[in-house]
This record gives sequence, C-alpha cells and structure tokens, in this order.
Amino acid sequence: MNSVTHIAPDQDSLCLDLQRGDLVCSQNYINGAWVDPYSKRWYEVSNPATDLAFARVADSGPDDARAATDAAAAAFPDWRARTARERSQMLQSWHGRILENAEDLARLIASEQGKSLAEARGEVAYGASYVEWFAAEALRCNGDILPSLMPGRRQMAMREPVGVVAAITPWNFPLAMIARKIAPALAAGCTVVAKPAEDTPLTALALVKLAAEAGIPAGVINIISASREQTPEAVSSWLQDARVRKITFTGSTAVGKYLARESAGTLKRLSLELGGNAPFIVFADADIDAAVAGLMRGKFRNSGQTCVCPNRVYVQSGVYQRFVEKLQSAVEALRIGPASRSGTDIGPLINARAVAKVDAHVHDAIARGATLVTGGKSVQNEVANGPFYYAPTVLAEASEDMMLCHEETFGPVIPLFRFDTEEEVVARANATAFGLAAYFYTGDPARIWRVAGLLEVGVMGINEGVVASEAAPFGGIKDSGYGREGSQQGLDDYLQTKYMCQGELG
Ligand code: NAD
Repeated sequence: MNSVTHIAPDQDSLCLDLQRGDLVCSQNYINGAWVDPYSKRWYEVSNPATDLAFARVADSGPDDARAATDAAAAAFPDWRARTARERSQMLQSWHGRILENAEDLARLIASEQGKSLAEARGEVAYGASYVEWFAAEALRCNGDILPSLMPGRRQMAMREPVGVVAAITPWNFPLAMIARKIAPALAAGCTVVAKPAEDTPLTALALVKLAAEAGIPAGVINIISASREQTPEAVSSWLQDARVRKITFTGSTAVGKYLARESAGTLKRLSLELGGNAPFIVFADADIDAAVAGLMRGKFRNSGQTCVCPNRVYVQSGVYQRFVEKLQSAVEALRIGPASRSGTDIGPLINARAVAKVDAHVHDAIARGATLVTGGKSVQNEVANGPFYYAPTVLAEASEDMMLCHEETFGPVIPLFRFDTEEEVVARANATAFGLAAYFYTGDPARIWRVAGLLEVGVMGINEGVVASEAAPFGGIKDSGYGREGSQQGLDDYLQTKYMCQGELG
C-alpha cells in the first residue's frame, strides 16, 4: 500500500498532477521500510480549498511510535560514528533531491495546506535552505581546548549528539518546519523519530522519501502519521521513553507545556517554538507606505497562519487615519482563492476550527466597539468555492479588552490600535504572556535602539515585515517557548557538552 489512495479527487487536488506520483506516500517509514501501521487504522487527508479528502495515511498508535524509537535507537551508534564530512555530504545530497523535486513538493504543500502555489514554492526553497545550511554546519561541531590552570593537566570540552530526537511539527509550514528540525539533528549526529501535523502529513512523508533516496541510512529518520485523536497516545510513547533524549516541537503553547510536563519524568532536552502575539508598531516618523507594504507581507503570508505574523498593529495617532486608508486599499486588492488558480494571493484557512476561531475573534472585537473597515466574514463564491475561506479583514479602534489582543488569531485579521507615546506603546506591546516576534517602523535611528532594547521578544523586524532566514536564530521567550532554530545556535540545540580532563602529563 505504498501509493496514494484517491478518495474523492476534485479539481483542486493538485497532487494528482505530480510528475512523481510515488512521492505521495501513505505508510509509515520505519527502519528504512514503508510499513503499514500496527494499529491497522488509516485516516483521510483533505484539501482545505474544498474540504474533500484526496488521500489517506496511517493512523498510528503507540506500537508504531515504539517501533520508530527502536529503529532510531539502533541506528544511533553507527550514525554518530560517521565522519562529519559523510553526514554533511548526505545532507547536501538530500538538499539536491529537494530542489530536483521542488515543483512536486510545492504541489503537495498547496494540496494539503491550502497556500498559493507561489507561496508553496517559496516554502520549498525556504525549507531546503535549512538543509543546505546544516549540511555546512555539520562540519563545525567544534569543541574547546581550555587553558589549564594546574600543571600536568589538559582540559577539553567535546560536543556530542544528544541521541534520539522526537520532532513534532505543525501544519502551517508542512515542509520547512520539519526540515529545520531534522537537518540540524542529523548534522549533529542524532537520529530522529518524527510526527507531522495530522492535517499535512503528505509533504513530510515525501521529504523523508527523498532523504532515503539521498542515501541517509535506514533508521536514521523514522516518520509516523497519526490523526488528532490518536496523536496523544502515540506521542506519549516518546514522552515516557528514556531512549528519546530530546523533543523538538513547533505548535501551540498549550501542547508545548503539556509535552514539557509529560516528558519531565525522563528529563529530556526540549526545544519549544510556540505561539506568538506579535505587535507591529508604526511610529508617526515612519515611511507609511513601507510600513503598509511590510504589514501586508508579514500578515497575509499563509493567510495569516504563521506564528510570527503581526497580531496587534499599533499606529501613532498623527498618522492613524492615513494608515487605515492605505491599508484598506491594499487589503481590498488581495485575490482570495484556491492554490490551483494562478494569481491567488490568499488561500483558505486550514480547517473548520481555524475558521471558527477567527470568526469568534472578529465578532468579539465588533461587539466590544471595534469598527469593521473591510472583510469580517467567511467567503464562499465561484472562485473561493469551499467552506474555509475568510475575507482579509481590517478592524479599527481595537482595544485591550478584545480576545484578539490576548490570543493568537492565526488568520487574516488586522486589528488597529491607536497610541500616543513611545513609552505607552512599548508597555502595551509587552503586556502579553507571549514573546516570539515584534516589528516596528520608524525613521528615527535613536528610537530604533531604544525600542529594540525594550521589546520582550526573541525575533524582531525593524522597518521589515518578514525576517526569517536559515542564518538567523529563530525562537521565542516567555510563553512562546525556548530553543532556537537556524544559525549556529540551531545546531547547539542537538549537541551536549562532555568535559574531559587528562592528568599525569608531566
Ligand atoms: P497544535 O499544537 O495542536 O498541533 C501542533 C502539533 O502538535 C501537531 O503535530 C499535533 O498533532 C501535535 N499535537 C497536538 N496535541 C498533541 C498532544 N496532546 N500530544 C502530542 N502532540 C500533540 O496546534 P494546532 O492545532 O495545529 O494549532 C492551534 C494553535 O497553535 C494555532 O491557532 C496557533 O495559535 C498555534 N500554532 C502555532 C504554530 C507555530 O508555528 N508556532 C504553528 C501552528 C499552530
């Protein structure tokens, strides 16, 4: 059962047009083989553009998770013993396979996640850049020779792989999120068990297939899929298993805290990239056109379903009305539709839960006094012909008592808050449990350094609305989690330090 089972094909199931149909996998990949789940259960994968199922994948349970851990633990001694050059070359080869199959991967992303093909192609390039980056970083797991403070002794700090890593990823970037976890893990010499989000397993399975074709040995990467219902039981096998030495997770804060609690018994290392509530501040001395353009890029990427996208937009009183007008015309020019239609700027939301949350935030804001500038409702028409489309929305005169000020909306909604002073807006921007990203636009260099020093976040855009890069350390503080992905620090998260002291050296 290695090929896709087409359940209800429709015109927007772009994966039906893949050059390589064999990239659509339905089984688990464990110890170098595609296998049916022990659970004997399967579940359906739908296209968010239509909510029609077009494939089915394994609905794994704890036995499948355990088999994956067995394979990863068995493969670890050989993988860690390979030379750094060998691991680097295999990652380079994987990178090459991803680029060779970029169009198919983009179509898979668009089919199961809903983003436009242009965005999906961008995600493939972005995800591949992490594999390329960590192929190079694999050669630089350097340790330290320490100055000796006593005669006849040498002291060294070695860097070693932490062991088996469990990677759990979200649906908003089905390729990039898993690539930027698996690539540094492999570069460091770790082996991996992975579970992609239930809504978007197909891209991750295809990515692992390409890794196998690139020569990455059996057992080094193992991946299982599971429905939302079965996931807690399957993953608990990893949480309790002392052989799993690290969990790397991207997703909601609630699940991140649950993983930290439930894995505490085996004291695992954790990297948690959790929710955000990013402020986007526009000072009156900013280039207003640049600020509108930056906000449009940052906010509507992936229909507003990114953890770093601006969630609260603060505009200084003097330019507030001008900003609202410019933003309204930019938002009303967005074309909403399926990935299969060329020129689509904004696709559907991922599922019914997402639509319900976005709509609840908009209604709550209006009930508490916000003014609806544009959007504010679900859309269903000849082009956007499915249940999960939501109109790009702007709400003016938002205030702190609204739900969208405290929770991540994760949808195409911009609430505009009015502010007067720098001191006031910094305090309001920091008044959240989250601390992932923040953005501000200003033409004053002195203000840049003041405000940058005061905002409580891990990632910041200054006169820039999209900041992610494989060369940069990405991650949050406070309820947005800990650990960093990308950069040299992204490798550190998969390494542990061993101090060695040699005596009797004369
Ligand atoms: P989620 O945290 O529920 O899911 C993320 C991953 O965790 C998925 O693979 C899921 O199967 C898994 N998971 C869920 N429950 C689990 C459990 N009990 N044990 C182990 N694994 C579990 O996130 P979601 O439902 O996809 O989205 C909900 C909210 O999370 C969004 O509205 C948004 O606020 C946030 N989110 C953040 C990011 C991010 O990049 N930081 C990405 C997606 C979602």
